[in-house]
Amino acid sequence: MPSPYQPTNIAIIGAGPAGAATALRLSYLGIPCVLIDKAGFPRDKICGDALSGKVPTLLNRLDPAIMDRFRQRFRPVDVWGIRFYPPSKKLIELPFKVGYERIPDEAPGYVAKRLDFDAFLIEEVRRRPNIELHLNTEISSYEKTPTGYRIQAKDGGPAWECRLLIDASGAHSRFSRKEAGQEVDHDHYAAAVRAYYRGVTGFHPDNFIELHFLEKYNPGYFWIFPLPGGQANVGLGMRSDIVKKKKINLREALDEIIASPDFAPRFANAEQIDPTAGYGLPLGSKERTLSGDNYLLTGDAGHLIDPLTGEGIGNATYSGFIAAELAEKCLAENRFDAAFLAAYDVRIARVLRTELRLSYRMQQIMQIKWLTNLLTGIVAANPKVIEVLCRMYTDFELRKQIVKPLFWWKLFRAKTGKMPLPETVEAER
Ligand SMILES: Cc1cc2nc3c(=O)[nH]c(=O)nc-3n(C[C@H](O)[C@H](O)[C@H](O)COP(=O)(O)OP(=O)(O)OC[C@H]3O[C@@H](n4cnc5c(N)ncnc54)[C@H](O)[C@@H]3O)c2cc1C
Repeated sequence: MPSPYQPTNIAIIGAGPAGAATALRLSYLGIPCVLIDKAGFPRDKICGDALSGKVPTLLNRLDPAIMDRFRQRFRPVDVWGIRFYPPSKKLIELPFKVGYERIPDEAPGYVAKRLDFDAFLIEEVRRRPNIELHLNTEISSYEKTPTGYRIQAKDGGPAWECRLLIDASGAHSRFSRKEAGQEVDHDHYAAAVRAYYRGVTGFHPDNFIELHFLEKYNPGYFWIFPLPGGQANVGLGMRSDIVKKKKINLREALDEIIASPDFAPRFANAEQIDPTAGYGLPLGSKERTLSGDNYLLTGDAGHLIDPLTGEGIGNATYSGFIAAELAEKCLAENRFDAAFLAAYDVRIARVLRTELRLSYRMQQIMQIKWLTNLLTGIVAANPKVIEVLCRMYTDFELRKQIVKPLFWWKLFRAKTGKMPLPETVEAER
């Protein structure tokens, strides 16, 4: 009897940003793969819908035509900075680029509904002849074999036997938990709810996204992001251990915040256009092993969300590219064992871990109210420091300085006239 398992070198489970990015990168490297998703697209993914600079940068690197096609087709909101409200409510506006000129096609970030963005990635996948795409196909069983994995879709659906399994099945990945042993740790996990509104007012003219760090919901934040067509993505996210400890109902909390005197005027003529929905965020604040014999974990399945900002699409895309580039080496060397695949963790550490560690440090600092208020007070009063912080998005060395107490001590002393500004700030004058 012929085997029900179709042979393939590489199978990817999940066709969200992590899986689609892996398949596209492989495709551009000339390597065929099977890409499987349980959903039909377009499909919603509960998210803030903000695409950080990493996403256009990586897609442009793959093929500049990709982001051009996306911008033309969906006209996403072009984002030029962040409005950051610490618990003291002292507004800090951080443009992504100092002295920027607003050219929408060159925006450093975008906001677009995941319904559109993810479906667009699938369209890109369909353009590639060497990606075998299977939608509406839910993988329900995994079996380790001496040479790889056997995977089977539910209800007697198709089955494959692969040498490398790339798990991109998101925050609720069963493979990540059961096969790779990456259990949820509530100290390193967040819960969040999202609602779509129409008619919210008071946005920055250049579409700055807004993060409101409210004392009652720390660590976490309330966000308002502008969407195309006068809509807005509004939500609240918090670390899961605190949600549990304080018994917070995030849906009720979101409604409460919107109705509070600080926000009610901006929602006075707004209407909610779909029910509030929630989902989990596996944060990258805990180091985990993301590879093993014949498998790699990418995106949310690998717990790679930024623990301060909740940004995960960029890291999902990045991890997909890294997985694809290693898969090329696996095929060249005919090696799919854990020792060889450990190179994935090494590269993830080099490219993403330092940033995740810094964000975790900042998340911890944000829990100390007096310190956050002191630091943000210094920043708000000093335009030169704001310029330096803007450089933080692209200057990694600077970001490392910012989490060091000495940097802030020097700023504090400079503010009180007791010391010159630190060199990083001086250099900006
Ligand atoms: C409320 C909220 C707000 C957020 N806001 C932002 C934001 O503004 N910006 C940002 O960058 N990040 C944000 N994130 C994080 C971001 O949504 C994720 O990091 C991102 O979706 C990860 O992409 P992924 O491809 O790893 O997983 P997903 O996007 O979840 O894709 C996983 C795919 O796997 C499929 N799948 C699952 N199980 C199976 C199976 N058994 N068989 C076949 N297919 C399967 C699913 O159908 C899905 O299509 C937010 C998250 C939440 C919850």
